[in-house]
Amino acid sequence: MAQDDVFKKVVAHCKEYGFVFPSSDIYDGLGAVYDYGQMGVELKNNIKNYWWQSMVLLHDNIVGIDSAIFMHPTIWKASGHVDAFNDPLIDNRDSKKRYRADVLIEEQIAKYEDKIEKEVTKAAKRFGDSFNRELFCETNPKVLAEKQKRDALNERYATAMNAMDLNELRQIIVDEEIVCPISGTRNWTEVRQFNLMFSTEMGSTSDGAMKVYLRPETAQGIFVNYLNVQKTGRMRVPFGIAQIGKAFRNEIVARQFIFRMREFEQMEMQFFVRPGSELEWFNKWKETRLAWHKALGFGDESYRFHDHEKLAHYANAATDIEFRMPFGFKEVEGIHSRTDFDLSQHEKFSGKNIKYFDPDTNESYTPYVIETSIGVDRMFLSVMCASYCEEKLENGETRVVLRLPAALAPVKLAVLPLVKKDGLPEKAREIMNELKFNFNCYYEEKDSIGKRYRRMDAIGTPYCVTVDHQSLEDGMVTLRERDTMEQRRVAISELCSIIQDKVTITSLLKKLS
Ligand code: ATP
Repeated sequence: MAQDDVFKKVVAHCKEYGFVFPSSDIYDGLGAVYDYGQMGVELKNNIKNYWWQSMVLLHDNIVGIDSAIFMHPTIWKASGHVDAFNDPLIDNRDSKKRYRADVLIEEQIAKYEDKIEKEVTKAAKRFGDSFNRELFCETNPKVLAEKQKRDALNERYATAMNAMDLNELRQIIVDEEIVCPISGTRNWTEVRQFNLMFSTEMGSTSDGAMKVYLRPETAQGIFVNYLNVQKTGRMRVPFGIAQIGKAFRNEIVARQFIFRMREFEQMEMQFFVRPGSELEWFNKWKETRLAWHKALGFGDESYRFHDHEKLAHYANAATDIEFRMPFGFKEVEGIHSRTDFDLSQHEKFSGKNIKYFDPDTNESYTPYVIETSIGVDRMFLSVMCASYCEEKLENGETRVVLRLPAALAPVKLAVLPLVKKDGLPEKAREIMNELKFNFNCYYEEKDSIGKRYRRMDAIGTPYCVTVDHQSLEDGMVTLRERDTMEQRRVAISELCSIIQDKVTITSLLKKLS
């Protein structure tokens, strides 16, 4: 299936089966805001639990918090968001469409990378087993030419972004002959800055309301609480604080469904370390986080690191974990070595001493911070895209199956009486009542058993049991597995032990330790 089609189908599937709806649907939606439906919320909660437990249960030096969305406005001054949380935007005069100048340029860089990759793939096919990728990349003239263009552009882009030189960004777009994907023209406006924070007012206007922001990231809630947590939790560096919560950004270009939203959710963990040890921890966290993704079983080739050429002013190392979405490799998670920037800024702006006293060395210092930051919604999208599958069956029919990792599936077990009579629904209910305390079960008696199986395949339910007349006599049911469609008779009394181990978050966590 063409990758474009996969994406369209995933979007339609999300709506049809109650995963994601456009927000305010009956009012024709609200730009880049989405609601999660009855299936979506379960999948989302499972993703969050997997993350939370991998942080807080598996590390005895990581604890969680839940800080408020509203924060003192000076926090955003200190963090740099008021002055510098801007995206450079550019309009195409013909299509009237607005773009992020940096994204247009990054897409151009990706095009050079794609060209290199195509040459390599072609050559690998030609040379077979004797192919030496490294040697080929170092010597092939076509690859070298593309690399040179890519590196020159990368360097020019990094310099322009570091200086926020808006004229230069526009000039790059002109020189690279980047066209608007809608109009196909190069009729670009100037590049302008646009602050991404939403603001509102707290208190009534008569007593001088205060301008407050909807947080654009959850991280600052961790920084301003780090000493509270360290002292009350008697934490010793190195230690981490994890948080899951909503963040808001007035994104300029908000297409691509839940990939880029204006209201979204983040799972962030800030890890506080001794100055000088941060790069070692940065590398450890890169590996730990990649392993978390890979444990889901979507294939190691679905992930890659993208190390940042252009570092934010506060960072001394940064990488993204990118996932192969239907529209290319895209960032799902960022891992940043943020130095002591945030804590030092809060010390300066609050006037409070927030240094850490290290009992091992008897000195006070401002810890350095490694951040891992992942978007729940982007993770959700990557899971949906990787799981969506249309399969041709032996009888010529096609089935749509969501091959979700069982631990993330919204429903773990469907309990289906073969017919709606003869005491079968009652027996099925009995099974439900027993198992519902262990995992999410779903009861359905409408339509043929085949149709019910298909509906369960479409929402990714890993197991179905069918209760038939024989079950009333021998206490056995038919257990069907989603992926193989294999069916076998098992005792009702064994269902829990057969299924439980495979569908809990613990099954994923065990792969990590
Ligand atoms: P991008 O370059 O795509 O705008 P970013 O580098 O600004 O992302 P971070 O500030 O590092 O993103 O945020 C960490 C994570 O939060 C991202 O990896 C992504 O998963 C998620 N995220 C950021 N912005 C959005 C958004 N508008 N909608 C959904 N998820 C988002």
